[in-house]
Amino acid sequence: MNESIHGETTAYDLQDRVTELIEQQTAISEVLRAIASSPHDLQPIFDAILDSATRLCRADLGSLRLSEESGLRRVAVRGDPLLVSQALSLVPVFVEKGSFLGRLATSRLPTHIPDFTAPEGDHRDDHWIAATNAGFRTGLIVPLLKDSEIAGIITLGRKRVQPFTDKQISLCKDFAVQAAIALEITRRERQYREAQMALAHANRVTTMGQLTASITHEVNQPITAAITYALAARRWLSAEPPNFREVDDTLSLIVKEGRRAGEVVERVRALVKRVPARKDAVAINDAILEVIALTRTEAANNSVSVRTQFAEDLPRVQGDRVQLQQVMLNLIVNAIQAMSCNGEGARELVISVDAIPSVGGVRVGVRDTGPGLSPESLSRLFEPFYTTKPDGMGMGLSICRSIIEAHGGRLWATGCEPRGALFQFTIPAD
Ligand code: ADP
Repeated sequence: MNESIHGETTAYDLQDRVTELIEQQTAISEVLRAIASSPHDLQPIFDAILDSATRLCRADLGSLRLSEESGLRRVAVRGDPLLVSQALSLVPVFVEKGSFLGRLATSRLPTHIPDFTAPEGDHRDDHWIAATNAGFRTGLIVPLLKDSEIAGIITLGRKRVQPFTDKQISLCKDFAVQAAIALEITRRERQYREAQMALAHANRVTTMGQLTASITHEVNQPITAAITYALAARRWLSAEPPNFREVDDTLSLIVKEGRRAGEVVERVRALVKRVPARKDAVAINDAILEVIALTRTEAANNSVSVRTQFAEDLPRVQGDRVQLQQVMLNLIVNAIQAMSCNGEGARELVISVDAIPSVGGVRVGVRDTGPGLSPESLSRLFEPFYTTKPDGMGMGLSICRSIIEAHGGRLWATGCEPRGALFQFTIPAD
């Protein structure tokens, strides 16, 4: 009530109104905060929405359900535990034709049932009776709409007959809109991440494709060695008398070479396979050494010498091993390609890893002695599709940067004196 019996707005009414507005404002802020702090996880958002809807609309029970192929799935519930357990065993899962939920699905408007016990003739159905038996006396069902389809529902219930006010119904509609927006944001966020993952995977496969000749060589080398050892073992066997000790030693060497070939194939497979992102404790040195092993022949073919400067006792970093290897792969291949047009100049690749205790993590550096970075390159390197190579795609560095940033780190480039480029990134420790 806004006015006194004399038609004047009293100070108490104004105070109530202000309190109510502050409550609503706080509820909206809570929901927005939940959306901002968990764009990938809807649960805290649904909890915040239903908390506010139940509290501000003075309901005894609230539930939020999402419409899925198998029916309406409950994602949040609030209120009197007894009523909740009774009501939830009775509330329908499917929206049936002719039911009040069915009518809601057709009208897409909020359904307000001021009094469940009032005779409603044809409107009463099993769901209605179930709700009444569960102790509901007043109910409000508000749809979550997406492109005028029902994406879910918010249900509020009261144990006493006390109709919801227009203001409460409109507030609940606002909450339903917020829930629908949160659903949409998460869906787009998921689509965006999936597209990014697909792009990163495509880039990995393309980069590996550039190394095919070198990797084939890496696999062939141990196989050739194993054949040579097998021929030697045969000779030891046919000697007079056969030298079984030498045969045994040679067989051990064959096994070693077989394993070496297997390891190369395994590393290639891990990088080419499409797998969901993971968060593990990664020993960055080992991960980098594997990439160096895969690119070794490529470096040798381009007369590039590779040196590592790894600090001792490095902490493990938090992240996805394959994605971090992808970053290294791109930086190393770029460095080798940059130096391949060096003419007679020295071709040195230095890969360093240091701990940075001040920020709690590690810093990786990839330094080459190539032509370095022009001012234009330096300002555009990380832009998607920026390339100076005739057959380049220009996606490598932009993908590397998004991978590193998704790990909570930073990737940057600087020119070196007298020549060359240095790419560095940081990764937080586990
Ligand atoms: P791409 O390799 O397909 O061109 P990238 O995003 O990996 O795509 O690289 C973008 C551009 O950055 C390259 O075309 C090149 O001009 C420049 N660049 C990358 N790494 C180096 C480097 N080590 N030295 C000099 N220029 C580099």
